Amino acid sequence: EGVEAGNLVEDIVLTDLKTKKYQGRVRTRFPPEPNGFLHIGHVKSICLNFGIAEKFGGSCNLRFDDTNPESEKQVYIDNIKEDVRWLGFEWDGSERYASDYFQQLYRWGEAFIDRGLAYVDELSAEDISEYRGSVTRPGKNSPFRDRPAEESLELFRQMRAGGMAQGSAVLRAKIDMSHPNVIMRDPIMYRILPDTPHPRTGNEWPIYPSYDWAHGLSDAIEGVTHSVCTLEFNMHNELYNWFNEKVLSLDDDSLPLCRPPDALPRHLDCAVHQHSKHSRAQRSGRQHEFARLEMTNIVVSKRKLKRLVEGEYVDGWDDPRMPTISGMRRRGYPPAALRKLCELIGVTKVPTSVIELSLLENCVRDALQETVAAKALCVLRPLPVTITNWSGEDELLEVPGDEARQMHFGKEILLDAEDFQEDPEPNFKRLAPGRKVKLRYSYVITCDEVIRGSDGDIKELRCSYDPESLGKRPPKKVAVIHWAHATQSAPVTVRMYDNLFSDARPEEAGDFLDALSGDSCKELTSARCEPSISAMWKKHQEESEDPIFRVQFERCGFFALDRKATEATSRMVFNCTVTPRSDFA
Ligand code: ATP
Ligand code: MG
Ligand code: MG
Repeated sequence: EGVEAGNLVEDIVLTDLKTKKYQGRVRTRFPPEPNGFLHIGHVKSICLNFGIAEKFGGSCNLRFDDTNPESEKQVYIDNIKEDVRWLGFEWDGSERYASDYFQQLYRWGEAFIDRGLAYVDELSAEDISEYRGSVTRPGKNSPFRDRPAEESLELFRQMRAGGMAQGSAVLRAKIDMSHPNVIMRDPIMYRILPDTPHPRTGNEWPIYPSYDWAHGLSDAIEGVTHSVCTLEFNMHNELYNWFNEKVLSLDDDSLPLCRPPDALPRHLDCAVHQHSKHSRAQRSGRQHEFARLEMTNIVVSKRKLKRLVEGEYVDGWDDPRMPTISGMRRRGYPPAALRKLCELIGVTKVPTSVIELSLLENCVRDALQETVAAKALCVLRPLPVTITNWSGEDELLEVPGDEARQMHFGKEILLDAEDFQEDPEPNFKRLAPGRKVKLRYSYVITCDEVIRGSDGDIKELRCSYDPESLGKRPPKKVAVIHWAHATQSAPVTVRMYDNLFSDARPEEAGDFLDALSGDSCKELTSARCEPSISAMWKKHQEESEDPIFRVQFERCGFFALDRKATEATSRMVFNCTVTPRSDFA
């Protein structure tokens, strides 16, 4: 009540609630296949599914669609769980697995054969695809299509018992080989995969259900009311409904199969039972499609991301340049920014334009601006400066603000090389020979001399400071820049990132690997940060629940401590999360 739909899928949910299409509460699910790490595309699906549940007082299941043991692994399962939680969502009860339902699905398979709704086909894979025809060419029946049910049943049981070789047979639904929707031309329900251990069921099953057979019925078993998927599954909708309706039609007393099955975990009993009470209409039309998220300068496909990892083009799935949730987390993107992006881009039923990566970066910047309190000065590419008129000991400068920060100032300091130009460009406002800049929290200095090494490179600047300028506003037109003390500062490593792909649409130019940018990570190993950075990190570890330590390096952007690298090198390593909106001038 009083809840408004925020997008078209929510619109459907709201209508279904008003018309009381379902008994009980709204139930959605997020159904990843554990064959890789989740990426920004999945974030959209997660926000949509969990968002609906939150908004309408329902629940959302996390269900692993683990029906292809060849590419699925426990480590992917573990990471997916971590990623969903990190985004701020919690699934209903324990996570579920399509493999929890293998026994039930198998029994429904037997029942389908019994009812003449399925048959074992021994055509080769090539023949099956040839016989299937195409949109313009009707298919033709397999010679095995009309074999007696007992024969199919016998063979199906042999398949299940492990007595048949891979590729020697499949179980197919008996629908219509000239159906206008090619998906409906006797779709495959089971295939034989005897030698591939499954991450959860091990070697128990030599046969595996197809996506269509497993997915819609897993939804049914869990009592899912709104099964949201991407547009490619549009053509599968009809099959989704067909399988569901046929399973419902089995549901009579002559068949013990659809009683709350003993092979099912207890918590599912009532879902199956409740589900079987849904009317035909309620069972149909639960699948709703929406446009998948696509974004410039990245690829969103686990298969492609896997190639980047396996080819060692990146430092693992969680490389900070990867559009994976774990990569974005390591980069320092806050979960709120990802949720915000999904809110902004909305949900459509037609393929939308490709989202600009800069939109995501803006969300990240906005979220960090609001939440990151830690600030420090860090010189990324140090250029040594001698303060010629400084004599005596260092001075301790107090940094104004909530946190007690002190910085040493003295004869030897460092500036960022980018803040100096020997022959300044017309609109360059920072340091140049004869010019002044104000050092943040410190003095105004003037550049008197440029010292070159034997190689001709600038080695050092000789500057003089104005003792009267401390604590005063800088004179007009004098830029404020960051700096560090040459020795009383912390050596840190800072990684600056560019897009992994320089091409906006890496997938459009043949092999996407050709579009990889050569130099998308620059590791700056001589960066120096104000010394209070260590205390800030310590404080974060003691006081914050967030595993990620974020800090703003003034004028340089937002950075996140890379724990892995920091632990490995025992010096602080920071990943640049995002640079300031406009290039500082
Ligand atoms: P991939 O090709 O990257 O493996 P997938 O769709 O095969 O993607 P699944 O693990 O099966 O990956 O996806 C889980 C859920 O996430 C599905 O409901 C799927 O529709 C959704 N999803 C995947 N990619 C995107 C995307 N780019 N935009 C929106 N939703 C997506
Ligand atoms: Mg999939
Ligand atoms: Mg996939």
